[in-house]
Amino acid sequence: MKKPKLRELKEAVRALIKGPYTTKFPKVPATVPEHFRGVPTYVPDECVGCGACAQVCPAGAIRVVDEYNEEKGRVMRHIERNWGNCIFCSQCFVYCITGKGIILDKDFERSTTDPRDLIDAHDKELLFCEKCGSPITAVDHVRWMMNKLGELAYANQTFMVTRMGDLKLVEETAPRDDRDLERSDFIRILCPNCRASYILSDEWGES
Ligand code: SF4
Ligand code: SF4
Repeated sequence: MKKPKLRELKEAVRALIKGPYTTKFPKVPATVPEHFRGVPTYVPDECVGCGACAQVCPAGAIRVVDEYNEEKGRVMRHIERNWGNCIFCSQCFVYCITGKGIILDKDFERSTTDPRDLIDAHDKELLFCEKCGSPITAVDHVRWMMNKLGELAYANQTFMVTRMGDLKLVEETAPRDDRDLERSDFIRILCPNCRASYILSDEWGES
């Protein structure tokens, strides 16, 4: 009979005294290190709806889409992560522009029999162009950029009118795509295409 090696004997005696190396997971919850990078989870109040996390996600686990929201009765930005596709690489956490929109909690398991449990989603209000009506970006994204820029933000008319709206100095205006932009429209919320078109027509009479 082949005799056990000394090292194996030592390990067996050690396991008898100190217990096995393996844990009893999943019967007993596993303990993880302090800086463990577990499940990425949205913090809706800290997320500004920019969509950067979706752009860096290598697994295509994040969907950012501007779609009609039945409950709110308007088009909203819908941000959705599907843990079923997530590979827990943490890129969304690392590249979140606010640094607070996503947290990595200590949990690492998302086993379920209902696919709906794998969805982590929230919605953001959108800012719309007052000429063509197309969505520009999330309102919180604009506010976040304004705070970053400080007084420089007032060089941009879209930022300025958004701030005036927050201060209740102006009211939301319905899009008007039925006429050309006039000089007074310069101080309006405009998407990059409409603003470029207006500047071209104002400077050179063409768009
Ligand atoms: S952890 Fe990685 S795979 Fe998962 S949602 Fe974030 S970027 Fe995508
Ligand atoms: S703020 Fe962060 S979490 Fe929110 S959409 Fe942008 S990158 Fe994603």
